[in-house]
Amino acid sequence: MKPSQNVTILGSTGSIGVNTLDVIQHESEKFQVYALTANQSWQKLFEQIKTFKPKFAVCADTNAAQSLKTLIHQENLPTEILSGVEGLEFVASSPDVDIVMAGIVGAAGLLPTLAAVKTGKKLMLANKESLVMAGELFMALVQKHRALLLPVDSEHNALFQCLPNHHYQQDNFVPWLELGVEKLILTASGGPFFKDPIEDLYKKTPQQACLHPNWSMGRKISVDSATLMNKGLEVIEASYLYGIAPDRIEVVIHPQSIIHSMVSYSDGAVLAELGNPDMRTPIAHALGWPERLKTQVKSLDITQIAQFDFFPPDYQKFPCLNLAFYALKQSGTAPAILNAANEMAVEAFLNEELGFMQIAKLVNEVLQKSQFESLKNIEQILNIDKQTRQLSQQLLAQFRE
Ligand code: NAD
Ligand code: MG
Repeated sequence: MKPSQNVTILGSTGSIGVNTLDVIQHESEKFQVYALTANQSWQKLFEQIKTFKPKFAVCADTNAAQSLKTLIHQENLPTEILSGVEGLEFVASSPDVDIVMAGIVGAAGLLPTLAAVKTGKKLMLANKESLVMAGELFMALVQKHRALLLPVDSEHNALFQCLPNHHYQQDNFVPWLELGVEKLILTASGGPFFKDPIEDLYKKTPQQACLHPNWSMGRKISVDSATLMNKGLEVIEASYLYGIAPDRIEVVIHPQSIIHSMVSYSDGAVLAELGNPDMRTPIAHALGWPERLKTQVKSLDITQIAQFDFFPPDYQKFPCLNLAFYALKQSGTAPAILNAANEMAVEAFLNEELGFMQIAKLVNEVLQKSQFESLKNIEQILNIDKQTRQLSQQLLAQFRE
């Protein structure tokens, strides 16, 4: 039997992190948890430490790290506690680590995720924001350091499974069109407000936005799913990940969330990946690749699905999707600006400082007021992220007046 592989889970206390631990728990002979990380939720992290006994645990927040450290000493546990971005980067890049799950939410995931890329890890990418922000630079680093990038986002994981196998030989990249790939079709559930008339959307509360019909997820991605910005970020993610032009990516609303995405070929064939909506499937796929693991996911009973529906997206009701296509076509720093403005808008919405339809309004205004540059390096992206957050803050203050 192969020796077990060491796994670092960035964002282990979140929805992706907890699902990853569930998959690992049922394949414990193959995988060993090396490090677990959180931001402030140190109590939850402590419970995970007791179960999985990692070598390291990290709280990005220094106060949380201190509280956790005190408890770990009291309980006499051997896990070493680190803090800050440095701690996250350390556990993502340590030579003892084989696999890194990038499960932090938002721009905070960028540096730790890149630390894993730069040390050539097998990287399971859930943190789509890091790829949206760093785009071509991210992919160039993957190539340079020979990291193995496996998408966890269910749509991109489905595409990975439906694309020709040999596209993944990184040394010998074969252009898509030569392989007969015409189009990537990303499916979207439509979110909780899919059926509501546009007039009703102005009054939607954070609680309503976070009630996703098919998936249970963190609050930020739940709001992104309700505005369809999540699908927009995924269009950008797919374009960079698979090196495909925006006009070859189509978004289709599929409320049942059974088909996770499709690839359309030049001979008329369309390949799809199906399954019950459960993130443990794409997580297990990426973790085990190229082997298949066993999960606790309920297997799909196709006779129980009454029907499959497909609709074109309503761009008027969900302008965020258009804004994402616009940012992708502008390329360079535009997607990082879109992402930062969206993170600020979503946070303000969750704090009840901004209406639901104002999320797109703020992102649009920020994009209009920003200048786009070509991507140069990571420092530039971090600066752009910071400046965009300041601009968003100023505009948010004006929105409140
Ligand atoms: P979540 O809010 O449930 O969890 C986020 C995790 O990141 C937590 O462990 C939190 O402690 C950590 N974190 C937050 N801020 C941090 C910071 N500043 N520094 C360090 N750690 C920080 O989010 P989630 O739903 O698990 O999503 C995680 C990522 O995966 C997101 O990028 C999301 O878009 C992506 N994703 C999630 C799902 C899903 O089903 N939840 C599906 C596809 C993709
Ligand atoms: Mg997704």
